[in-house]
Amino acid sequence: MARPNPPSAESQSQFPLMEEMHGPLSDRAALAESQRCLYCYDAPCIHACPTGIDVPTFVKKISTGDVTGAAKTILTANILGASCARVCPTEVLCEGACVLGHEYEPIQIGLLQRHATDFVTARGISVLDSPAQANGFRVAIIGAGPAGLGCAADLAALGHRVVIFEKEALAGGLNTRGVAYYKMKPQVSLDEVRLVESLGVEIRTGVNVGKDLHADELLSEYDAIFVAIGLGGGSRLGVPGEVGAGVRAALDFIRDIHEMPLESVSVRKTVLVIGGGNTAIDAVSQAKRLGASSATLAYRRKEEQMNAYAFEVAQARAADCRLIFEANPREVVRNDEGNLTGVRFTHASSGMEWIEPCDQLLLAIGQPKQDQLLKSLFPALALNARGCVLTDPLTARTSIHKVFAGGDCANGGMEVVNAVGEGKKAAMAIHHMLTGKPAVPKLQASRSGIARPAAGAGLWNPIRSATH
Ligand SMILES: Cc1cc2nc3c(=O)[nH]c(=O)nc-3n(C[C@H](O)[C@H](O)[C@H](O)COP(=O)(O)OP(=O)(O)OC[C@H]3O[C@@H](n4cnc5c(N)ncnc54)[C@H](O)[C@@H]3O)c2cc1C
Repeated sequence: MARPNPPSAESQSQFPLMEEMHGPLSDRAALAESQRCLYCYDAPCIHACPTGIDVPTFVKKISTGDVTGAAKTILTANILGASCARVCPTEVLCEGACVLGHEYEPIQIGLLQRHATDFVTARGISVLDSPAQANGFRVAIIGAGPAGLGCAADLAALGHRVVIFEKEALAGGLNTRGVAYYKMKPQVSLDEVRLVESLGVEIRTGVNVGKDLHADELLSEYDAIFVAIGLGGGSRLGVPGEVGAGVRAALDFIRDIHEMPLESVSVRKTVLVIGGGNTAIDAVSQAKRLGASSATLAYRRKEEQMNAYAFEVAQARAADCRLIFEANPREVVRNDEGNLTGVRFTHASSGMEWIEPCDQLLLAIGQPKQDQLLKSLFPALALNARGCVLTDPLTARTSIHKVFAGGDCANGGMEVVNAVGEGKKAAMAIHHMLTGKPAVPKLQASRSGIARPAAGAGLWNPIRSATH
């Protein structure tokens, strides 16, 4: 769906807590912060970034006043550098690796990255090199989220003709309609989509591959395909009373926030969110920030077992959200008129039973894998036990010749920067497959989950990998 009614300036001011969490650095603050960088040899912050941004170089450029040059360093490595500056869990990636963090405060890399990328976006300064001369190869990408866009940008820069097929009316994937509004406004993502298009990439929105277009057509018309369809909508609890008014997927609630004026988003008085991941934390925080009198998150395990990052849990608490743990949902409770009144839980350790009152229930218990869609698109595609596309960790190749995959549909659901990194990795491998030119992925192993195959691992065998 196209965003029917972008939030007005007035609607923003009614909800100050929905404004971006971290304001930008002033020029003076950016200069001072950048001058703290030690410009480490073999800098750990570069290795910690799944897109391999040369952090010390861009920080150094800011410190010398070359903010445009800094943006060039960032965007050449990561076309989604502006959104990653806002949404990356920098605390556990680049900033977490900063050596200054051992004794002092780490460099605020995310904010400096935002400073540089915002500088060129606001001024319309073009920093990317012109794409190489067209080489005659055509690559189709399914899905215009971070993985698809990351792959497209690198392929286009290398001279490939790239067409992205996107089922929604707006490109950007979850960056445009999923990431919490107080972390990033959808416009940042849409600006990045335009940046990718400026490289000559064609994005055909409103095309649902599998329904509007058969994947076989792509296989016969294109020299390579990159599958980047992400994950599915929200999963269900499977308890009595769940189907009915007042209960919806947290992702749909979050999507409304991106597509409607904030004052039109339906937020009831007593909101209960079930789940323990980042979607749950984003949903409960945003419900409270949008005016719920009480916003509670219920998670079936202990706090330390939550998938949500600790700093995001702390932010939710700071926003006055309540968190309850070891809460197993048994039944969605409704009154005689069928209105939602609460959820009956049992406590995982004590067995105690209670009803948690609510008049709005948001389910954030995971995004289902796309195994059925993947199998219907490419029946011969090997999937792993989790229902994700099985890929070679170094090249993003799948079990089907000339089909590559990356992002959430392959990694099972990580972060924006992982999706971009996997898209880049696939671009290098596709380029190598098509042109025979050596592809030297900038990407190296990182602490964030992209594996480096052991030396001498030999050729990747998808079938062996599927069974081991
Ligand atoms: C609520 C929420 C909050 C998040 N917050 C953060 C955060 O703060 N920081 C962070 O780093 N990460 C965050 N993430 C994770 C991040 O958004 C994802 O890891 C990232 O978007 C994955 O990118 P992707 O390209 O693989 O998939 P997606 O972003 O899901 O994009 C896939 C695209 O494929 C399209 N598509 C699907 N099927 C078809 C088809 N058949 N034909 C054509 N197009 C199709 C979809 O419409 C979509 O545009 C969050 C995720 C969620 C759900």
